[in-house]
Amino acid sequence: MIHVIGAGPAGCVLALLLARRGHEVHLHERRGDPRSSTPEAGRSINLALAARGMRALESAGVMQALESGLVRMPGRQLHLADGSQSFNPYGQNPGEINYSISRAELTRRLVERAGATPGIHLHFRRRCLGLAPSGNPLLVDEDSGREIEIAGNRVVAADGAGSALRKDLASHGHIQVREDLLDHTYKELTIPARSGRSALAVREALHIWPRHGYMLIALPNADHTFTATLFMPHQGPVSFETLAAPGAARAFFQREFPDALAVMPDFDQEFSLHREGLLGTVRCSAWNHGEQLLLIGDAAHAIVPFHGQGMNCALEDCVALDALLADGRPAPFARLSAQRRPDGDAIADMSLENYVEMRDAVIDPRHQQHRQLELELERRFPGHFIPRYAMVMFHAQIPYSVVRQRARIQQGILEELTDQHAGAESDLALSLVGERLPRLDRISG
Ligand code: FAD
Repeated sequence: MIHVIGAGPAGCVLALLLARRGHEVHLHERRGDPRSSTPEAGRSINLALAARGMRALESAGVMQALESGLVRMPGRQLHLADGSQSFNPYGQNPGEINYSISRAELTRRLVERAGATPGIHLHFRRRCLGLAPSGNPLLVDEDSGREIEIAGNRVVAADGAGSALRKDLASHGHIQVREDLLDHTYKELTIPARSGRSALAVREALHIWPRHGYMLIALPNADHTFTATLFMPHQGPVSFETLAAPGAARAFFQREFPDALAVMPDFDQEFSLHREGLLGTVRCSAWNHGEQLLLIGDAAHAIVPFHGQGMNCALEDCVALDALLADGRPAPFARLSAQRRPDGDAIADMSLENYVEMRDAVIDPRHQQHRQLELELERRFPGHFIPRYAMVMFHAQIPYSVVRQRARIQQGILEELTDQHAGAESDLALSLVGERLPRLDRISG
């Protein structure tokens, strides 16, 4: 029997994977049953789903059940400060597409599937308090107040970025945890549909309004609405703090994002009511405490959302754990921690770097030159040179740690070729790629 704490994407998918292997799984969730309750407004309403997440959902047998809720996002629609717009595809190969999915819909469909799967026992309004004095995980039934200690069974904590078990493991000295809060925060706003159609001309795209120190993005929903998110510093000359004054937020949007403001009829109310969300990175010295307790997903490695990989990475953890539990060798929890931590650290770093790319670099001429060049290099050297974005989002077989290592080499090649005014067809390109980038299938399997 395995206990999983948290029925978010990671907890549900793990439960489904384990049940397919014949395990009895108890899934404990502090919230009410999403099949019968309405989601909280103004909190991360949709998510970008990419290859790693889709691979996990397919393994868990739920991808088909989600398809009707997906909206294709083959690229970014840039809204520049001068009012012009352009569409930038994410990749140049068929299938290089991300999908937007509603978080509430995803959770509801996953819980539905878990509830219908023999071997999975769902417990809602059951909150994990952390570790009992005995060292065992302790839960409370929110309705009866009854406390439940889990002894003698494996426990997987998938209870998200604020994980109660992670905090107790750290405070008891079992693991070291570093939590780095970003000085930028976010707020979500809605772009409603207009007469049943999308209010933004291009529906199938991730819209970005890059403005250097801050940015607005918007992801499409299946009901033709968009969820927009403003990311900016919490404090400083241009910050959420300065937008708190009466009328300041509207004036700021009128100046910076007039086309977005024009399609946000509930702007004033939403801006004042929706809470500002915190962003941060969590790194742990280990994800396991012996073979009794394991942290996965955001509980182990919360990351900033700028690569759209937090959930994708969490789902990839589930597949890796399922495989380790199935191979029959000892210490699967310790092996998962050893295997996945380098990947968690790598995607944490790349997610921070991608914030700079999204809000600054996409409008930087040198970056645009590099973007053209990397696509040409990918065409000339298939299997050797793959743009970093594509490796993260579309190549689920390449571990994040390998992506980061190769991306650094590739960046060096791009810089060198640009400085030497050499193109993708040059001899210099051939020799740099030949020396530095072995074929990917030889290193990632
Ligand atoms: P969570 O989704 O946090 O689920 C944890 C579950 O545990 C919840 O159901 C919670 O109620 C429950 N729980 C919490 N505490 C307890 C407790 N004490 N006892 C019992 N249950 C508990 N990722 C992407 O891949 N793509 C994106 O586009 C993307 N966009 C994002 C945008 C924003 C603004 C933010 C903040 C995040 C974004 N992410 C994105 C990250 C993504 O939301 C997370 O990585 C993902 O939800 C992690 O899944 P999880 O199951 O590990 O944790």
